[in-house]
Amino acid sequence: MATPERLRIVGGAVHDPANNVDGEVRDVCIEDGRIVANLPSGAPTLDVPGMIVMPGGVDIHAHFASSSCNHARRLLPEEHLADRAPAPTLLDGARAARSGTGGTVPTTFTTGYRYAGLGYTTAFDAAVAPLMARHTHEELDDTPVVDAGCFVLLGNDEYLHRQINAGEIERARHYVAWMLGATGAYAVKIVNPGGIEAWKSGQRNLTDLDQALTGTRVTPRAILETLTNAANRLRLPHPVHIHCNNLGQAGNSATTIATMQALTGRRAHFTHLQFHCYGGETGKGWGSAAKTVIEHVNAHAEHTVDVGQVMFGPATTLTADGPVEYLLYSTSGRKWVNIDVELETGCGIVPYAYKEKAAVATLQWAIGLELFLLARDPWRVVLSTDHPNGGSFLSYPALIRLLMDRSARDDQLKRANLKLLSGSALADGLEREYTLNEIAIVTRAGPARILGLKQKGHLGVGADADLTIYARDADVAQMFSSPRFVLKSGQVVVEEGQLRRAPQGRRLYVRPPFDETVLRDVRRHFDAYGTVAFDNYAVRDVPGSPAALQS
Ligand SMILES: [Zn+2]
Repeated sequence: MATPERLRIVGGAVHDPANNVDGEVRDVCIEDGRIVANLPSGAPTLDVPGMIVMPGGVDIHAHFASSSCNHARRLLPEEHLADRAPAPTLLDGARAARSGTGGTVPTTFTTGYRYAGLGYTTAFDAAVAPLMARHTHEELDDTPVVDAGCFVLLGNDEYLHRQINAGEIERARHYVAWMLGATGAYAVKIVNPGGIEAWKSGQRNLTDLDQALTGTRVTPRAILETLTNAANRLRLPHPVHIHCNNLGQAGNSATTIATMQALTGRRAHFTHLQFHCYGGETGKGWGSAAKTVIEHVNAHAEHTVDVGQVMFGPATTLTADGPVEYLLYSTSGRKWVNIDVELETGCGIVPYAYKEKAAVATLQWAIGLELFLLARDPWRVVLSTDHPNGGSFLSYPALIRLLMDRSARDDQLKRANLKLLSGSALADGLEREYTLNEIAIVTRAGPARILGLKQKGHLGVGADADLTIYARDADVAQMFSSPRFVLKSGQVVVEEGQLRRAPQGRRLYVRPPFDETVLRDVRRHFDAYGTVAFDNYAVRDVPGSPAALQS
């Protein structure tokens, strides 16, 4: 089938929660890559009788296009051998297909193909060091199909810390705006605020919101407030995206709640919450604190989260949070990469596997599910595995089955190590089963809304014609892993379950205005400390045009 500019999709059950459509059989009309209200009779049709029609998936938080991903690929030659990815057979006239490798950190082209094959049409790389942004854009150029963007790491940025220390909060905001434009990023990311810089410079990791970097007034709290306010004042479509201090530590739920309390009343997104919901105490055992944390989230409409579910199986942990990876390396004995990105951030990588017979892995798995199942508002608690940290994005369908089918959860629990699950809400029995509409919310409509993507995650008039169409299957994991059709900007990219086209996606980024006089001072900082000259720093030629700021 050729892809016409007009297409009427006929006979599907539409799940479009943003427009209050819950499984109604209705036509969806597409013209020039957008959803339209109607088409003249005689327009080409795609008949999908009884199938499930949803907007394309939107991945709010994954790692797939960055210099750190590339380090991970180099670290994992065994995965290349085990998961060879031949070039797909695309239709004549399609962009040349490329082979690659898969595993937990697939190569660029394979990433695009696999996202498309899963019905995901938008994705964000959640952690890009400013200095490495050019590399990310080059990888995104080679990641077909998905509309994509990145979040830029600013929570351990030395220039930003200097401004906070000097009380120059406005200058900090202008710097943030410049940095977003200079790196072609979509949002501001904070990872372990202040802690990476402390660890890099020989101080120990920061564990308390009010602990200062040596000799300064710079605390995690000050960094969080400065960047949250900056993102909100700049009217970024997505608020600040926060990976809290103390990731992975027993008892870290106290830090997580303190961080949320510090930002009460301010729009903020807390990422991979599962990794921040542990009870117990360091050295004295672990437990689930999911209930306490999600109750706090439930009560604060200004805050949104993604879960960061752990799935049993192989993973690659990969984060700017260098000290966490050092700990994981020390306890796992696995190979390890540790990188300093001058003046800006760190990076650590350790391959990992979550085993169902391991007590901590089971606890992590259970906590993620507790967050999902105790969340009152699915629009604010959305799906992620922090790919590839908690598991590959290819495990989303298995996660969807766990959410939709209590017996699947119970079966898994029977095989798992329950040692740390006393007091866990999941082990005590959670009956909730997600509906298809709730799945559409946590995988598409919710992430799109949190990201401020007005044309994504829904099928109303004017929306981008990104759609995923599933043939019903009693096995929902099977159904969600192999959509029958996927459309990207109105083009049929997956046809009868086969990837047939792989067009270039659009780049998603912002370029907020700022006071250019601050650049004199930024330039002085580069001249004094940077190895890259200020004039060579900004990424040029980011394709397309910047996204609109919030009105
Ligand atoms: Zn992440």
